[in-house]
Amino acid sequence: MARAQLKSLVMIVASGLALLATPALAEPKWALVIHGGAGVIERKDLTPETEAAYRAAMAKAAATGSAVLDKGGSAMDAIEAVIRDLEDDPLFNAGRGAVFTAEGRNELDAAVMDGKSLMAGSVAGVTRTRHPISLARAVMEKSRHVMMIGAGADAFAASVGLEQVDPSYFFTERRWQGLVKELANQGLPVPVRPAGAPPPQAFQPIPDDRKFGTVGVAALDSAGNVAAGTSTGGMTAKRWGRVGDAPIIGAGTYASNQSCAVSATGSGEYFIRLTVAREICALVQYKGMTLQRAADEVIQARLTALGGDGGVVALTPDGQMAWSFNTSGMYRARAAEGQPTVVSIYKDEQ
Ligand code: ASP
Repeated sequence: MARAQLKSLVMIVASGLALLATPALAEPKWALVIHGGAGVIERKDLTPETEAAYRAAMAKAAATGSAVLDKGGSAMDAIEAVIRDLEDDPLFNAGRGAVFTAEGRNELDAAVMDGKSLMAGSVAGVTRTRHPISLARAVMEKSRHVMMIGAGADAFAASVGLEQVDPSYFFTERRWQGLVKELANQGLPVPVRPAGAPPPQAFQPIPDDRKFGTVGVAALDSAGNVAAGTSTGGMTAKRWGRVGDAPIIGAGTYASNQSCAVSATGSGEYFIRLTVAREICALVQYKGMTLQRAADEVIQARLTALGGDGGVVALTPDGQMAWSFNTSGMYRARAAEGQPTVVSIYKDEQ
């Protein structure tokens, strides 16, 4: 054997041994990534108490989802459990604490998608169902349809036994005052305070109150399936039955075991036009991009170029987790089997 051949044989054997010696990075059995909305969120604008409250809410959401997945629960069960809690938390623009339309109503949008079956369910403009995320799941599991809107969607919710509330249940002073401010900016009249709302009270303002605060989850379960879910009140002072990206499958919410699961938050009109969630998964599926690269390509390059703002959380069936946003902050958390939970708000955090 020539000297050069011998040398390369030795090198091949050596590198093989080195590979064997390097412990493979184990794929986590389960994982989840959560957002609580993206926007202009800067340290100087959050009081220590408000910041602590958001971090605690995100940590609790991660713990709730982790507990479901760690017990072998499905990605869909984890998503529903996490989002139901966040819909009850007035810090977020989903369920109670949702933003108001220009007419002074709370009109809620939500969606879920299951990556194994490609089944999906979504609702828009719901006003009486306490947990729009559970309604989206019921549309997927208990109807022949994918999307329902308005009074019909609420009627379906009642027919399958989901809790109905008076629309004033969703009222919060902070979001009402956010509406009053936004309508003044736009030169629009302020509607009468909704029937059933409590008398005016003190409230703690938060940054970028005008629109953001949507909640969403992408999850991977120990059976290897991914799913995604998103719930929102939309954008403050939205008009004429406006629907955002959250309930549009492929725009704000998407999941497929062939590629990835994504939940988005931000200026919905742009996310719809770019079919953001599906686009990220398509880059993973057809271009073989890593999840982080695909998310950055769509958010940092394409969304930014179009003038949209916001972000996504995402994960793949092989346990890659990613987030990407082009705003100064996004309330977010991620957790996976055997890994420490990460909770972050600002851009300069991990
Ligand atoms: N994407 C939501 C919408 O446009 C709003 C948000 O995420 O803040 O309805």
